[in-house]
Amino acid sequence: MSLFAEAKKYIAGGVNSPVRAFAAVGGEPVFIKSAKGAWLQTEDGRQMIDYVGSWGPMILGHAHADVIKAVIDAAEAGLSFGAPTVAETRLAQKICEFMPSIERIRMVSSGTEATMSAIRLARGFTGRDKIIKFEGCYHGHSDSLLIKAGSGALTLGVPSSPGVPTGLAEHTITLDFNDPAAVETVFAELGEQIACIIVEPIAGNMNMVPPEPGFLEALRSQCDQYKAVLIFDEVMTGFRVAKGGAQEIFDIQPDLTTLGKIVGGGLPAAAFGGRADIMASIAPDGPVYQAGTLSGNPLVMAAGLATLQGLERPGFYASLGERTRQLADGLADVARGAGVPLAVEAAGGMFGFVFSADGPIRRFAQVTAANTELFRKFFHGMLDSNVYFAPSAFEAGFVSDAHGDEEISETLSRAKRVFATLKS
Ligand SMILES: *Cc1c(COP(=O)(O)O)cnc(C)c1O
Repeated sequence: MSLFAEAKKYIAGGVNSPVRAFAAVGGEPVFIKSAKGAWLQTEDGRQMIDYVGSWGPMILGHAHADVIKAVIDAAEAGLSFGAPTVAETRLAQKICEFMPSIERIRMVSSGTEATMSAIRLARGFTGRDKIIKFEGCYHGHSDSLLIKAGSGALTLGVPSSPGVPTGLAEHTITLDFNDPAAVETVFAELGEQIACIIVEPIAGNMNMVPPEPGFLEALRSQCDQYKAVLIFDEVMTGFRVAKGGAQEIFDIQPDLTTLGKIVGGGLPAAAFGGRADIMASIAPDGPVYQAGTLSGNPLVMAAGLATLQGLERPGFYASLGERTRQLADGLADVARGAGVPLAVEAAGGMFGFVFSADGPIRRFAQVTAANTELFRKFFHGMLDSNVYFAPSAFEAGFVSDAHGDEEISETLSRAKRVFATLKS
């Protein structure tokens, strides 16, 4: 029996998060035994170059010596106390230093928890119920966020999953990413009822889509005008596209920021934070309830702090950005050589590629119109060549500090062979 078949006997769908099951690309998922640097070792004895990086956290590369040592030291001192530790203060301090818009922070254990809590806080702080989000952005799987745009009136949402009450959908307004006019229309009509806008400032869950000039600025000014809370969901982009996240690149201060992925260095940490006056509404200082038995867990704080310290090396982001750009441009070159239309994006250690002649990709509809059949063939061609990209055309990719020139050029020469097979 295959490892996946055995897993399916006990685990729902054989996986603990759906995209891992390869449903979008077909075939059976690869089981990972261990990883070091840029390389994965599979249970069937293959060595693969990894561009998933646990979906973002492994920015220093897998099993980085400093992170592993910090976790072992923390483990030997006890796994969890449910009482304050200095490690929590140190990580919080480091995050506030990297992202000056964050004056106070609260640690949680997943990105889903961070966005759910930030939205409750925004609603509690403003005394309003409605929220705005954007099609193609992903903010975790809490009820209020599993709502998509309805087909009828602009503002009427529908649940995107069974189990989400339709009554909740009326409070979530889903608009088109990079369409500031739609945001202005909704605020003009409902501005006094809107608690917050939540947005991925660089979208990374519909492949990779950067904001057009003026889009994030419009969100900031609408929130200012109507006293709504602007939430940047930087669970993916935080410490990934720049040390200070996308908010540093675009020089826009959100009111609240959600973090995850890199902030835990590969262990389950996430966080939300921002303006001190808003954060003062969270219990115990304020009335908005939020809590977590394992929040700020010492092992997780140790992994997060060691990871953020690794990012402070001078020139870290310059070299990460250069190698990511080399990969993205290289893929575009190789595709062009093979006559396959491909639109690429890169920022810091994050990249995207879409099988489309319609680039640059700036709208959700452009991503969904892309050629997923070509992606599927490319994905499996690369997997057979021992290069592991995300098993879905709607995910971004990640380069780590451990990806050197050798890994990048090896990837590109393998990609060249795979693209040559795609033409027919
Ligand atoms: C991954 C992700 C989340 C959800 O984080 P989990 O830890 O998987 O719950 C939320 N927002 C964004 C932008 C993400 O990329």
